[in-house]
Amino acid sequence: MSHPDPVARAAELRATLDHASYEYYILDRPALADAEYDRLFRELQAIEREHPALRTSDSPTARVGTAPVSSLPKYTHRSPMLSLGNAFTDEEVRDWEARLVRLAGDDVLRAGYSAELKIDGAAVSLLYDGGILAVGATRGNGLVGEDVTPSIRTVRDVPLRLRGTGWPERVEIRGEIYYPFDRFERMNEERVRDGEPVFANPRNAAAGALRQLDPANTARRPLRFYGYAIVAGPGERLTFTTQSEVLETLERWGVPVAPHRRRCDTLDEVAAWAGDVEHKIRGSLNFAIDGGVVKIDSLALQEDLGVVGGREPRWAIARKFAPDIAETRLLDIRVNVGRTGALNPYAVLEPVEIGGTTVTYATLHNEDLIIAKDLRLGDVVQVKRAGEVIPQVIGPIPERRTGNEQAWRMPATCPQCGTPAVRDEEEVAWYCPNVGCPGRRLEGLVHFASRGAMDIRGLSYARIEQLVEAGLVKDAADLFTLTTEQFLGLDRFADRSAQQLVEAIATSRAQPLSRLLFGLGVRHVGAGAAELLARHFGDLDSLMAASEGDIASVHGIGEIIAHSVVAFFADEAAKDVIRRLRVSHVTFREPQPVSISGALKGQTVVITGTLPTLSRQAASEMLESAGARVTDSVSKKTSFLVAGEAAGSKLEKARALGVEVIDEAELLRRTGH
Ligand SMILES: [Zn+2]
Repeated sequence: MSHPDPVARAAELRATLDHASYEYYILDRPALADAEYDRLFRELQAIEREHPALRTSDSPTARVGTAPVSSLPKYTHRSPMLSLGNAFTDEEVRDWEARLVRLAGDDVLRAGYSAELKIDGAAVSLLYDGGILAVGATRGNGLVGEDVTPSIRTVRDVPLRLRGTGWPERVEIRGEIYYPFDRFERMNEERVRDGEPVFANPRNAAAGALRQLDPANTARRPLRFYGYAIVAGPGERLTFTTQSEVLETLERWGVPVAPHRRRCDTLDEVAAWAGDVEHKIRGSLNFAIDGGVVKIDSLALQEDLGVVGGREPRWAIARKFAPDIAETRLLDIRVNVGRTGALNPYAVLEPVEIGGTTVTYATLHNEDLIIAKDLRLGDVVQVKRAGEVIPQVIGPIPERRTGNEQAWRMPATCPQCGTPAVRDEEEVAWYCPNVGCPGRRLEGLVHFASRGAMDIRGLSYARIEQLVEAGLVKDAADLFTLTTEQFLGLDRFADRSAQQLVEAIATSRAQPLSRLLFGLGVRHVGAGAAELLARHFGDLDSLMAASEGDIASVHGIGEIIAHSVVAFFADEAAKDVIRRLRVSHVTFREPQPVSISGALKGQTVVITGTLPTLSRQAASEMLESAGARVTDSVSKKTSFLVAGEAAGSKLEKARALGVEVIDEAELLRRTGH
């Protein structure tokens, strides 16, 4: 389909896609469904293919990578990218301040500090020309880096075009490209599966990904960016007065800024902040930091203090933390059985202190990683605790071997039930295929009772373990037939706690379908998907009767989930559990949003294009609260289509099928607004 005005349409698509990325990556508040994003993206690609003259460097299509280059051109920085001096204690930070006071007087004590996380990634410089990303370069030696613009464009949260207003015609933004931990681990697992060596740390992986000659390779890596500086070029002046203002400005321009920053008046406040970061915050981050950075907040004072030896600014210092890596001995490798049957190896370590806590266990992910790292029982290993709740074994120190270390292999049978383990061709992990495996059942029950699912207060891991061991509970349905007397027959149960538990279980029967569905542990159905399904189908019986196609047509649900849901409900054991849950009067319904008018009850509606005032989310909610169901694709069953500007194939299809098409004004009227 070609659009009558491709110039306007391309501009409009870019604006829509750009805004969707901003909402998704910066605000963490996605408003456009993935499928819709993909559709608009493909439309833009098609226009650009047909009219190459319309291609622009800030087009979201540049994010998938452009043509490979044969080598990375050198790039001379407009002003040197500096490196920081280090302080390892609060005392050393005070020494630094004392030096500054000697140089610049008491003004230093009044300027305040900007305390920021020091991201452990790859430093980059981004040059924006007229608000559009023109150059992205690595730090290199600080004076000369490499031009990696096509790779930088693939980093989803680097703005290709600055938002808002007020940016100088030419402006340089500096920051750090990093690799989120969760993605990093997933990538390593994929590399193991593909027989490639694993990356030792996210920083190397980020730097390596950035320097790919083929930007399409970079695009496959989920790199992210945090900005921390706006830099004037030679002869230019910026109008900001403080570093805090710089960070706020970056956010206004749509540049992501690292969380947990603090403006501090005194070094006491800086020390308190550093303590928080080291002991409370560091462990919860999804990216690596190698400390904090303390900067004099006043930019005028920064300029007065200047740079030492052309490389190191006097006005900032890196506050390093105690290493979060320790060495200890690998005593044993044991295997835990997950609720899907996955056999997860974990390390038993000689207890060692890392970052203030004693570590005894560490995750080992899967057998292939253990083999790839050549871990042997008895090895001295490096253990890391950063960003993850569960510590990880980085690898062995082969030089410390005595010759008595032993190789480890995954046991051929499930440690819980003795069933021979199987390995899915597609998966890295080994599985216990026995649905009745006590290990699997235990984890499944723990999930069912967990806070995100049925939220049964007081039904802890230990108590579920007791129930399973006593043979009182095999599956979720058994929980609802438990009596106070049965609990009292177990160890460590007082009258009152037994009664409370029975009550808590009974109360949980009223939980909405979405929680039940999530708790049942259908593969690929997380809490979000469970809610979408529950809201769409309204009750469990409708969902169980639905075809794969019906389920896949739900806004936000894909084919993988649809397939998994249908397979789950086709299973005899699952049917039996559901039959018994029904007998126990567990709720199978999802309360529908309070209906304002109920005027659209039973109607199925599709939204397409950009509405003049309402976001798609708002329009959907309005329709749903009036009783309608909102779906993704137009069919004969569609009651009407709400079409905004730039409506595409859905509008055509609706017209072809004779489905009624309305605009936003009519939508407002029908929903009683
Ligand atoms: Zn088993």
